[in-house]
Amino acid sequence: MYKIAAYLAKIYRNRIMYVLIINAGSSSVKFTLFRKDKVQVVVDGLVERIGRNGTAVHYQNSGKDRITWKTPVADARRAVRLIAELLTDKACGVLRSKEEIAAIGHRVVHGGEKINSSVIIDARVKQIIKECFPLAPLHNPPNLDGIEACEIIFQQVRQVAVFDTAFHTTLPQYAYLYGLPYALYKEDKIRRYGFHGTSHKYVSHIAAEIINRPIETLKIVTCHLGNGCSITAIDGGRSIDTSMGFTPLEGLLMGTRCGDIDPAVVFYLMAHKRLDLKQINDLFNKQSGLLGLAGIGSSDLRDILEARESGNRQADTAVRVFVYRIKKYIGAYAFAMGAIDAVVFTGGIGENSPLIRQMVCQDLEELGIVIDPEENADPKKTCFEIQGKAGTVKILVIPTDEEKEIALQTLKLLSA
Ligand code: ADP
Repeated sequence: MYKIAAYLAKIYRNRIMYVLIINAGSSSVKFTLFRKDKVQVVVDGLVERIGRNGTAVHYQNSGKDRITWKTPVADARRAVRLIAELLTDKACGVLRSKEEIAAIGHRVVHGGEKINSSVIIDARVKQIIKECFPLAPLHNPPNLDGIEACEIIFQQVRQVAVFDTAFHTTLPQYAYLYGLPYALYKEDKIRRYGFHGTSHKYVSHIAAEIINRPIETLKIVTCHLGNGCSITAIDGGRSIDTSMGFTPLEGLLMGTRCGDIDPAVVFYLMAHKRLDLKQINDLFNKQSGLLGLAGIGSSDLRDILEARESGNRQADTAVRVFVYRIKKYIGAYAFAMGAIDAVVFTGGIGENSPLIRQMVCQDLEELGIVIDPEENADPKKTCFEIQGKAGTVKILVIPTDEEKEIALQTLKLLSA
């Protein structure tokens, strides 16, 4: 009897275990399975257009071709059940059973002021996610749906929530308060929260590794430039200011979002253009930014750069507005920290557009920011330094990996 128990214990010890990362959105559930020992992706995929016509499932075993097919999926719970079936499927799966999943890490957008780190999910955490529904109405409800679906489908597995806002809870009060009556902060919690925290944290730690100095000694500005764009001042590993605010609308110019704007524009649009709040919300979030300024019917920077190349002056202006605002924030954050050791570019644009990086860093030699044009344009590298010899500030291109950061935080929390 004892021998059998010892044998089973040995097998169990040697069994490869996995961490599943779930990112549940309003109509999609994205999933990534990591090997626990190496924090290495083995499967990733997406169930999209959930509850609509043409639900599509994308599934990819690492190193193999991505497969896509259509099948009706009514809601998040059914999507999670499908994911569990796929992962344990004899043909395409990698798990012998669901028990090989050691933990599930969930991306959650808003944790408000109460959550300043990743947490093991319990009733209190779910209540806080619910309390933050008014602050992130498009994100927190589906995030919670994803958690509750996993609680049903993966009953024995421990679940962790990793919050986009958590990294920014170190902002000092003078950086997060708006110039509104204090009661609106105290009673309605209107303040800067900041987003993309998982990405900013991840790339700042990789930057410290590349620079080979403890993060506690570094002053870094991280530029996350994708469809959504945000920029963060990280002093000694702590976020001390960030461009997104009460919602992810504030700050940089983005694909379809306007970023910083005079709030009085709202009054003007209501009084003179007869727009209601829903229309203005739509205008600022979905019709502005690069899409609205360039006016070529696309928010994709590649299309806008192409139009600019072929002489479209409005596209050129949109790019200049985009770049100027990044530059202005880098300057502001260098002053806020009193110095700057490194600028990090990440996100689809930050990682892939040498032109934008070069334009952002242009004419900053006096401040020690100098790009090496050849390094910057090297298409073969994915994680690299691009500062020139004359520069004193490191300039780094670092691919973000929010799923990996969630997996790392999930494992850290469970081992603690
Ligand atoms: P999301 O914020 O949705 O995660 P991504 O980080 O994938 O978005 O970034 C999408 C943006 O990256 C798009 O504007 C796209 O045009 C831009 N992008 C991707 N590749 C390139 C490239 N080679 N050159 C310029 N822009 C690029």
